[in-house]
Amino acid sequence: MAKVQTDRRKFMKYSSLGILGLVLGGGIVFSPYPLSAETRLRPPGAVTEEDFLALCIKCGQCLQVCPYHAIELSDIVKGHGVGTPYIDATQRGCYACSAVPCVLACPSGALEHTCEKPEDIHMGIAVLEFPDTCLAMSNTPVPQGFNIKMHSFTENVTNVTQLELDLLEKLDSFEGKQCTLCADMCPIPEPLSAIAMIYDSAGGNKPEIYDGCIGCGVCQEVCPTQTPSIVIKPRESYESVYQS
Ligand code: SF4
Ligand code: SF4
Ligand code: SF4
Repeated sequence: MAKVQTDRRKFMKYSSLGILGLVLGGGIVFSPYPLSAETRLRPPGAVTEEDFLALCIKCGQCLQVCPYHAIELSDIVKGHGVGTPYIDATQRGCYACSAVPCVLACPSGALEHTCEKPEDIHMGIAVLEFPDTCLAMSNTPVPQGFNIKMHSFTENVTNVTQLELDLLEKLDSFEGKQCTLCADMCPIPEPLSAIAMIYDSAGGNKPEIYDGCIGCGVCQEVCPTQTPSIVIKPRESYESVYQS
């Protein structure tokens, strides 16, 4: 994920020049996106969006400790909340580390320290947004070479972790098989409380979401369709999406 590196370099550059505050402050004022348009996935433990923007000091501590390079910093191009951390689940989801180190590293309260374990994480909720493209529903095997994104990342980033190399190997093992990637890669301790492949009356299988889903974004990341068939609705809950 070269983008993470780029963001980090930008962050360090601005810090060392001592103008970070000015840049970031200006970014909020001149953001081309209204607050109401914000749909960004925030790291685990994030307080409400309004409080998050007020509390986050843009120190980058959360992304420094993330062993999956899941967290990025918003820059001026990305608009809203410049310098604040977010997760682009199409690139890399949160793997729900057991001690949630990103939260522990946050010094400002923007990530609430009551979020101590994967079950405490509530980032959003997964939705099978594009069932027509889901490979499982048409019984289409996972194509060879689908994992190019992860291969490219591990080849181009210098500080790849062993956890990421393990992930690469695991993802490659799905090539040519019936697609169960979203369900089988779900990282929470009890994945069946969040997602399961169920028989579909049209003859295929489909992922079904349950109330244990924490909205970590891994299913969106690993979905092999060109546009992920399954996506996360940030800050939504199982109740708000499936029971309203
Ligand atoms: S829980 Fe782990 S993988 Fe998820 S954002 Fe925090 S440090 Fe990264
Ligand atoms: S279904 Fe699993 S992988 Fe997908 S967002 Fe929910 S908890 Fe994460
Ligand atoms: S990862 Fe899940 S949503 Fe994506 S194609 Fe496979 S079964 Fe369908």
